[in-house]
Amino acid sequence: MFGLFSSKGPFKVKVAAADKEFAVEKGDNLLKAALDNQLAWPHNCRVGSCGECRCRLVSGKIKPLADFSYVLNSEEMDSGMILACQTSLRSDVEIEVSMDMPANPISKPETTGGTIISTKSLTHDILEVTIQVDDAFPKYLAGQYAEVVVPGVIDKPRSYSFAKSPDKEQKNHVSFYIRHVPKGEFTTWLHSENREGQKVEVTGPFGSFWHRESPKQVLCLAGGSGMAPIKALLEHMLSEGMSQQVTYLFGARTQKDLYCLEEMQEIVKLSKGQFTFIPVLSQEPEDSDWTGLRGYAIDHIQFTEDFATNTHAYLCGPPPMIDSAIEMFNAKGLLNEHIFYDKFLDASSMEGGRA
Ligand SMILES: Cc1cc2nc3c(=O)[nH]c(=O)nc-3n(C[C@H](O)[C@H](O)[C@H](O)COP(=O)(O)OP(=O)(O)OC[C@H]3O[C@@H](n4cnc5c(N)ncnc54)[C@H](O)[C@@H]3O)c2cc1C
Repeated sequence: MFGLFSSKGPFKVKVAAADKEFAVEKGDNLLKAALDNQLAWPHNCRVGSCGECRCRLVSGKIKPLADFSYVLNSEEMDSGMILACQTSLRSDVEIEVSMDMPANPISKPETTGGTIISTKSLTHDILEVTIQVDDAFPKYLAGQYAEVVVPGVIDKPRSYSFAKSPDKEQKNHVSFYIRHVPKGEFTTWLHSENREGQKVEVTGPFGSFWHRESPKQVLCLAGGSGMAPIKALLEHMLSEGMSQQVTYLFGARTQKDLYCLEEMQEIVKLSKGQFTFIPVLSQEPEDSDWTGLRGYAIDHIQFTEDFATNTHAYLCGPPPMIDSAIEMFNAKGLLNEHIFYDKFLDASSMEGGRA
C-alpha cells in the first residue's frame, strides 16, 4: 500500500462511512488538507509525535513522511494505520477515521500578522499574553490552539491554547497563558523582558479539544498552563447554560503557582451550584496557611458510582499527567471515547526535539 510512484496530485480522499470527500493538493499532507476542508479530524501536535491523527488506509497509495513505528504499535501498523500529519498521497485513497463533529462549525486555519499588546504576570512563571491581530482571525472553538511565530526570534512555531472562550475575547484579540519553560528558547526570550509592541505571526485555529454536547457530568483535570483551554471550555459551557455537574481539579506546586482564582469563583457563582473548583497543591510547605487539598490532583478525584457510564473527562497539561489519568480512568471503566485531552508537548517530549 505504500507506493513508490511520483507525486502528481491533487488526489481525492474518501472518508469511509462519513460520506465525505476532499482533495489533497500537491505538497500538502493528509491532515492539513482535512483541516483546510474544515473536517473534525482528530489531531493535537501535527508533527508526528502525539499520534492523535491516526487513521486507517483502506485503499490507495501513500508516502509516509516519517517512520510511523515511533508512534504506532505493530498491531496498528499491521492493520494499515497511518498518521495523517505525516502522510502525503500517491493516488486517490479511502481512509477510515473516527470524527466527532462539534456543535459549532470548524474554521479553516489562516495565518495573520499581529502585535503583542499586553503581557501580564499571572504567576512567577506564567504570563498572560494578548496579541492584537492585523486581519480578522478565524473564529476558534473554546479549547483549540494557535501557532505563534516571532520572526527573527523563533522560526519554528510554538503552540498555545486560547485562554478565553471566543465570546469572552475582545474583537481582533487573542490571549494565551504562556509558562516559562527552563532553557526553552521562545519562553525564555518572552519572559526575559517586556515584549509589548513585538510583531508576531499567528496561525490557527487547530486542535480537536472542544466541548462535546452531552448531559453527562464533566470532570476536568489540568496543571500549570493547562488552565488556559480548560478555562475557555468552562466559559463556553457556562454560556451554553451548564446544565450538568462540572468538577475541575487544578494541580499546582505551591500557592504562588495558583492563578485565575477569581475567574473560577465567578464561574462557581454563575453556575448556580453546578460547578466545583478544587485546587490541589503538591509542594506547599507543611507549615503554611494553606487549608485546601495537598498532594496530586489526580489522587483527589471522587469517583461517583456512575463514573464509567456518566462522565466526560477533559484533561490538559504535561503528557505524563494525562497518560496517568487516562490509565486510571480506563481502569475505572471509562472508555477512551469519553476522555478528551490536549497534551502540551514541547521539544523535550517530541521525537528528536524541535531541531
Ligand atoms: C497543542 C499544544 C498546546 C499548547 N498550549 C500551551 C499553552 O497554552 N501554554 C503553554 O505555556 N504551553 C503550551 N504548549 C507548549 C508550547 O507549545 C511550547 O512547547 C513551550 O512554550 C516551550 O517552548 P520554548 O520555545 O520555550 O521551549 P523549547 O525551546 O521548544 O524547549 C522546550 C524544552 O525542550 C528542551 N529541548 C529543546 N530541544 C530539545 C531536543 N532536541 N531534545 C530534547 N529536549 C529539547 C528544552 O531544553 C526545554 O526544556 C502547548 C503545546 C501543544 C502541543
